[in-house]
Amino acid sequence: MSHRIRKPVLAGNWKMNKGPGDATAFFAAFLNAYRRDENRTVMFFPPALSLAAAQAAIAERGDIMLGVQNIHWEENGAFTGEISAAIAAQANATCVLAGHSERRHIFGETDEEVGRKCAAALAAGLTPIACAGETLEQREAGQLSEILLRQLDAVMDAIPDDADDRLVVAYEPVWAIGTGVNATPADAAEAHGVLRARLAERYGRRQAGAIPILYGGSVKPGNAADLLAADGVDGLLVGGASLEPLAFAKIASA
Ligand code: PEP
Repeated sequence: MSHRIRKPVLAGNWKMNKGPGDATAFFAAFLNAYRRDENRTVMFFPPALSLAAAQAAIAERGDIMLGVQNIHWEENGAFTGEISAAIAAQANATCVLAGHSERRHIFGETDEEVGRKCAAALAAGLTPIACAGETLEQREAGQLSEILLRQLDAVMDAIPDDADDRLVVAYEPVWAIGTGVNATPADAAEAHGVLRARLAERYGRRQAGAIPILYGGSVKPGNAADLLAADGVDGLLVGGASLEPLAFAKIASA
């Protein structure tokens, strides 16, 4: 099944927060506060064990997608503690984060592994949200483009050439994640321009223009609208502020 996304995407990454009971309580408050808008897609990435509770809570809402925060690239086998794209798909996840900076920096995920995860996701019918972003040191050393392109190339090299219509990209500067320091709209526009240009080299301008590129990094209700309005920003990937139903309802409506 294909899950092509053309509308602005507002995504919440709960990281290692909220068990099944917390997820049920979150959605009771969130669905009350967030007015359905057919012109945007809202996505949540709860912990995998909370996926079923989240699905039950949003059962009637076709405007909300649910995914997992990570997968292994193999389909099954002796990989204790891991879940595969096939298992996530069987559990009715429709999307998956790949290469979140916490996976890269805490768990040592490589560019090549992120590419393999994106390929596995696509093969199982999941939409991968491929994350890319530079550290502060890399930015200060003038390596923004080099790092973003290396990370994006690893994904594009790993996935089939015709998979661009199911790819979502997220620009998440490492220095902005969970720090309270967001990129400015101009910073985001510059980085999104770099990523979009590379997508266009590979897939052509028209196809590249249809691939959503989300910004993530200390998005809050107070900065969401400005970031969403920045050139080339097609959506927001939100960590901390997505844990709070009212805050995320505001962001999702920004
Ligand atoms: C994230 O986890 O992807 C993220 C952007 O976190 P935060 O919004 O807390 O910076």
